[in-house]
Amino acid sequence: MENCLFCKIISGDIPSAKVYEDEYCYAFRDINPQAPTHILVVPKTHVASIAEADQLSPGALAAILSAIGKIARQEGLDNGFRVVSNCGPDACQSVQHLHFHILGGRQMAEKMA
Ligand code: 5GP
Ligand code: ZN
Repeated sequence: MENCLFCKIISGDIPSAKVYEDEYCYAFRDINPQAPTHILVVPKTHVASIAEADQLSPGALAAILSAIGKIARQEGLDNGFRVVSNCGPDACQSVQHLHFHILGGRQMAEKMA
């Protein structure tokens, strides 16, 4: 997708700190971390948000979910972590390419919103 920031990160046109990659997904450190560990996991296929995740193949969906646990283990998040996917204006989604935030390395707030 032209003019999509995360598509440009996946293609390497914009540099990123990669932490994981497989056939279906790419993961990199958030440029403005909100926790000691803050990683974004994105499908390599462009879809705008989790509301359009049904456009992804079952293989891609499974790969993303599997990648989250692999990355958490790789990052040593043994005491837990939070996964967030903001969708649309009410959730303050700022990049219109589906992404999952992995947040960890400290105690999270009890309330999510
Ligand atoms: P959203 O607000 O859409 O849920 O999350 C978008 C995330 O992308 C934000 O946490 C923001 O810091 C991150 N982000 C925005 N631009 C860049 C960038 O150029 N590189 C990286 N690594 N992260 C970015
Ligand atoms: Zn994209």
